[in-house]
Amino acid sequence: MPELPEVETIARQLRARGVEGRKILSVKVNWARTVEPLSVASFSRQVRGTTIDEISRVGKWMMFLLSSGKTIMIHLRMAGGFSMEPGQHDRLVFKLSDGPTLHYRDTRKFGRWKLVDDPQEILDKLGPDALTRQFSPTYFREAMRKRHRMIKPLILDQSIVAGLGNIYVDEALWEAKIHPERRSDSLDDAELSTLFKAIKHVLAIGVKNRGTSLGDGKTNYRDVEGEAGGHREKVKAYGRSGKPCVRCGTFLEKIVVAQRGTTFCPVCQSGFDQ
Ligand SMILES: [Zn+2]
Repeated sequence: MPELPEVETIARQLRARGVEGRKILSVKVNWARTVEPLSVASFSRQVRGTTIDEISRVGKWMMFLLSSGKTIMIHLRMAGGFSMEPGQHDRLVFKLSDGPTLHYRDTRKFGRWKLVDDPQEILDKLGPDALTRQFSPTYFREAMRKRHRMIKPLILDQSIVAGLGNIYVDEALWEAKIHPERRSDSLDDAELSTLFKAIKHVLAIGVKNRGTSLGDGKTNYRDVEGEAGGHREKVKAYGRSGKPCVRCGTFLEKIVVAQRGTTFCPVCQSGFDQ
């Protein structure tokens, strides 16, 4: 599932492909639910003829700021992605001025495009983006201390910090040597500081490696150029259950935490004082 590094990679590549500044000449929606709650006709009418002025990102949301003043807010959910080439799973296609065509593909069909007057309608519900300065050590410490929730679901909660999903949370907790079921208010200053740095680190490395692809299946993340993310070989915890911890050699274990499959090292991440 695309998380902050994957969405950031796609946004950068769409800019590099010159999508910004181009007019949307035609709109084709192959899967009507993509643009819910608007009808295909209403979405197409409001988008056609406008220019994509800017592409930006907050958390896992990508935004196309249109010359009409409206914004398309895109959430890729499980398997959404973009290509400049046509494909079997294209759900939405924009023909752009001066030649290129933008293809939104989505094998699982869960991704959503919301046309809004003001992005704040959605952004107000999010915590600070994990890679911005607003997500600061002080903010993080206070957010963790005033709650008594398990650490993993708490940092997955987009209203607390925007951008993390299952992959990078498992990576950050492994990096910080913190058990995923620890209560947030049981973490001391040193642990919170280590975890904060680990979150920033795993996301930055993920962006640098153009995101993570975990398999070769068609639902897997691919960047705009059709390439798998380069982060797969760098993953230390996520998807490695039964394999040895690269730090201590213990076999990693898989458990379910708040309904999410979770891989961790029972030795490095043992410290369990509720
Ligand atoms: Zn270990």
